Amino acid sequence: MGSDPQVIGGFASVQAVRRAGRNKQDPQFGKSRTTLPAARKPTEKPGPSTTARIGHTVIPDSFEIVCYECGYTFTMRGQLRKTYCAKCREILVVDEQIIETAWTGRVKTIGTVQVRNGGSLTGAHMVVGDLILDGRVEDCTIKICRRLELGSHASGDLADINTRDILVRAGANVSLRSKLECQNFIVQGSFKGTIDVRGLVTIKPGAFLQGRVTAARLLVEEGGGVKATLKVTGAKKPEK
Ligand SMILES: [Zn+2]
Repeated sequence: MGSDPQVIGGFASVQAVRRAGRNKQDPQFGKSRTTLPAARKPTEKPGPSTTARIGHTVIPDSFEIVCYECGYTFTMRGQLRKTYCAKCREILVVDEQIIETAWTGRVKTIGTVQVRNGGSLTGAHMVVGDLILDGRVEDCTIKICRRLELGSHASGDLADINTRDILVRAGANVSLRSKLECQNFIVQGSFKGTIDVRGLVTIKPGAFLQGRVTAARLLVEEGGGVKATLKVTGAKKPEK
């Protein structure tokens, strides 16, 4: 048999980016969940034997989970799955969705929602772990506990999105009028716009940032470009 029974779901690709640039203080570059590892075809069963096998044949990835009720952050090893918050005991649901058409509705999940090019959200109410946005957003209430990832076709009312971190995806060319606010901003592609960042702005090799930037800290990695009005305040000292 050529197939490897121990590789499950998105593990292969998730493992490839595992442990890249790990730093507790900074955005976790290795933690993109864009492979939607919890997503399964309806016909596939989780299979207890499969789950058991993970423990000793594959080093499971660890997922950062942010409780959507209390904000408590913890890690889960193995596959992203339904769990409960270790702090407030709320049951945390993993509901992963890929949206390719016009969509409205409610979703609350610690997982990832992906809006692809051609997809849009109108009047939706979302609380999600990650949102991968390559479509349009209008009149939505969106809270992202971890990260908003922007593709080239991201458009609409982005200023109203409440998110911890924002990442401009590799290869994406994003230009926005909305002012974006977040804790950490990571540029892997090309971004033009106005950002107000409470923590760190990182420009990765080959990435380019244009516009107006206010941030506590700025890191331009070798090969990264920036042409912007910059206000970098430095790390804030703890208050007495
Ligand atoms: Zn909680």
